Amino acid sequence: MDDAVRVLAGLRITALTGAGVSTDSGIPDYRGPDSPPRNPMTYQQFVQDEAFRRHYWARNHVGWQHMHRTHPNAGHRALVRLEERGLLAGIVTQNVDLLHEDAGSRNVIDLHGRYDRVVCLQCRRVVSREHLAERLTALNPGFLESVANDVADIEIAPDADAVIEATSHFRPAPCEFCGGVLKPEIVYFGENVPRARVEAAFALVDDGDALLVAGSSLTVMSGLRFVRHAARAGKPVVIVNRGITRGDVHATVKVDAGTSEVLAQLADLL
Ligand SMILES: [Zn+2]
Repeated sequence: MDDAVRVLAGLRITALTGAGVSTDSGIPDYRGPDSPPRNPMTYQQFVQDEAFRRHYWARNHVGWQHMHRTHPNAGHRALVRLEERGLLAGIVTQNVDLLHEDAGSRNVIDLHGRYDRVVCLQCRRVVSREHLAERLTALNPGFLESVANDVADIEIAPDADAVIEATSHFRPAPCEFCGGVLKPEIVYFGENVPRARVEAAFALVDDGDALLVAGSSLTVMSGLRFVRHAARAGKPVVIVNRGITRGDVHATVKVDAGTSEVLAQLADLL
């Protein structure tokens, strides 16, 4: 911890955050060291398999109702404090939960999208998830009530996926403009982050003097490339994460601990 403070002192920081930052807000990290194994949905499954989409939207319709109950934690708030004091250039986040924005962070790039928007795969129009929820409820009268008991104490995944079984009669909503397939505006496995968003994230990393990685095991290249980029530019890289990460070899300092406590301490000490 002392090393992290010494390395970051006086520098303008860019933060790269992952699921570990949101676990203390009650959103499980499926890649964390204590997490249950889980097969992530792939983009190909979603696009190619109508039954899979029906199952997905049924679960998402339930899980989405629960996302409103999540709140930012001390880690999110610490990054807000750093930004307010001019010590943080901004945040590139792999999370789609919008908790950085909820906490009050201003310069945030939602690298993997956001759970509150839906995109049509045919006409590319974007609508709010809230608007879609009204349509799904109208198309499936009684559905939420019928599963209410099943979801009393289930886990809600980071993308608002909920674990329920009876979904075979669920009716997904087509795009209301063209009839196309709707998909959460979230980057799934097998899908690329839009180029303009990647470039904005690289620019934000370039804007900082140091990169602070928090709560990501950097398993996927979409996050790891920013660590490599910062390291190649000779910038210090501080990684705060429970457990090993794929970026550890590039870390100037590694703090193996929970992000809420460590980020709060950093905001106090920097
Ligand atoms: Zn459309």
